[in-house]
Amino acid sequence: MTKSHPGEANPLLEPWTGPFEAPPFDLIRSDEFRAAFDRALAEARAETDAIAANPEPPTFANTIEAVERSGKNLDKVASVFFNLVGTDSDETLEAVERDMAPILSRHRSAFFLNEALFARVAELYANRAKLGLDPEQARVLERYHLNFTRNGAGLPPAAKARLADIGERLASLGAQFGQNVLADEKAYLLILDIEDLGGLPDFLIASAARIAAERGHPGKYGITLSRSSIEPFLQFSNRRDLRERAFRAWSARGESDGHTDNRPIAAEMVRLRAERAALLGYESFAHFRLADTMAKTPQAALDLLESVWTPAVRRAAEEEGALQKLAAAEGENFAIAPWDWRYYAEKQRKAEFDLDEGEIKPYLQLGKLIEAAFYAANRLFGLSFTERFDIPLYNKGARAFEVARDGKPVALFIGDYLARSSKRSGAWMSDFRGQHKLDGAQLPIIVNVMNFAQGGEGEPSLLSFDDARTLFHEFGHGLHGMLSDVTYPTLSGTNVARDFVEFPSQLYEHWLEQPEILRRFALHYETGAPMPETLIEKLVAARKFNQGFATLEYAASALVDLSLHLNATPEDLDVVALEQKELARIGMPEAIAMRHRTPHFQHIFSGESYSAGYYSYLWSEILDADGFEAFHETGDIFHTETARRLHDFVYAAGGSRDYEAAYAGFRGRAPSPEALLRKRGLDGAPAEG
Ligand SMILES: [Zn+2]
Repeated sequence: MTKSHPGEANPLLEPWTGPFEAPPFDLIRSDEFRAAFDRALAEARAETDAIAANPEPPTFANTIEAVERSGKNLDKVASVFFNLVGTDSDETLEAVERDMAPILSRHRSAFFLNEALFARVAELYANRAKLGLDPEQARVLERYHLNFTRNGAGLPPAAKARLADIGERLASLGAQFGQNVLADEKAYLLILDIEDLGGLPDFLIASAARIAAERGHPGKYGITLSRSSIEPFLQFSNRRDLRERAFRAWSARGESDGHTDNRPIAAEMVRLRAERAALLGYESFAHFRLADTMAKTPQAALDLLESVWTPAVRRAAEEEGALQKLAAAEGENFAIAPWDWRYYAEKQRKAEFDLDEGEIKPYLQLGKLIEAAFYAANRLFGLSFTERFDIPLYNKGARAFEVARDGKPVALFIGDYLARSSKRSGAWMSDFRGQHKLDGAQLPIIVNVMNFAQGGEGEPSLLSFDDARTLFHEFGHGLHGMLSDVTYPTLSGTNVARDFVEFPSQLYEHWLEQPEILRRFALHYETGAPMPETLIEKLVAARKFNQGFATLEYAASALVDLSLHLNATPEDLDVVALEQKELARIGMPEAIAMRHRTPHFQHIFSGESYSAGYYSYLWSEILDADGFEAFHETGDIFHTETARRLHDFVYAAGGSRDYEAAYAGFRGRAPSPEALLRKRGLDGAPAEG
């Protein structure tokens, strides 16, 4: 299935000479990745072997820096490939992903299990005090030593071989998991006739009409399982039968019998992860994963989740009571179900705050909110953004912006905002190239990917306030990548502990909510009028609305993640049964569903990144809630000196600093957890409004 083109230049491996040395997307074809991977892997292997076999005694330069410089082509090919797999996939790319996942995993294992290389790293680490390293170099060496030991260096050969097998199998399963979710999402379309549209606001009808037309049902209306389509449908549709049908399909992604069933995949992954942790000497996979985080132990993460769980259950019960009353007032006598919650919460919000989503959306134009995110970055960090139309991208839906400071380029930023069927669901930041200064300044190329619904014909895409928050969130991650100012790739940008990495992104969300930003950028798409002050006030007042629900749907997912991965002997694991058991143990209300159920929990199964780590968002929220108060305390949300410390200690620092020290450098003290409960309205004070 892979074609090689002997003698032909492969654009993936040629020097990229266009603006920002960006990948030449116009020249790259899906069927060229396999050959490019093969060549780049061989190169990387030869480079590693040469470093390991160097007859000179190990030095920081001939070992650590040499490794940091190696594998350049592999980085190029892999970063383009994995970005495209997420954003603009096709059958060829999916096949290459399945083929390459185990091969790349084996390559990674071979690197970490290379005894000669590890011996050099270990010798340097043992002598680290005498090497005259600067603080960043010392941190790089420490990371290398830790990564080697956490990947099995130094273990007996049989254990190392088994770790490599496990890694390979996990990589294949993770790739399949993500593809199955995408397949289930692609396969589903709720087709509506005009009489099925009761309660739906204009923006949703317009996007549903467009979706149906694109999928070959002109004149009808379509709801997909993309969050930007199904969530507003659940919020507004007055057809309980349709809400239930759509919700059940959404909730069952990855759980259908047949070739997209993720249940056996998740079970096998949990089993293999537990085995890996045991080989490395840890009590469970959660213990292994948490050892290299700010939280350090599963117990610390559980303690945090439990500290919000009880007040959130109390708040959610009050919320549910109010929704039940609303339903009763309409003459309904059913108990609120998960497919009713959003619908009645929307009504409740309207009643309590005189606020409805349909009223907010016309003021939240995608283009203006992108400008708002740029504006805040300008005020805080002096960045300017200029759209470039001369840089070929991988899809016409994506946009490129040159990022500069003091007239000098800093980064290339790619924004890919709208949903399409070739894109995975969710929102994320990634890079095509990370920042470093190993051989002169290498500027980063950062991408933000989102799944906002397109607007109706000739109309802008209009966002919900949650969508807008997502845009700011991912842009916060983007800034972490763009402002990175470190020497070594290993410490660049978002290469930090998982429970610290959400701090720069969640902190950035706070600027969206500031009246100063909304007045300037929340402009009506038809009249250009700014959002009325009364609406801004209502929006701010409603910030703590429905936080019992939001906290529980999130925390339940985080607790199920930990309970799956605290399992030391997960033989014959039925992941759905375990999920149900955990939900019963924690007392999950019937009316609320997990934000991500196990069979489609891509954070923890589609790759490794958030496995036993979904709690990280809440951990980082301690930091962002407390951190934003630093600006409030000055009375200026763009306070220059506070912004400078935030830049130096957090956004520019990548992984070059200890996280507690980085936070204290910015804030002047350790974080206080009270701000988190205040932010969510769970601190016992009556809800505002
Ligand atoms: Zn994030």
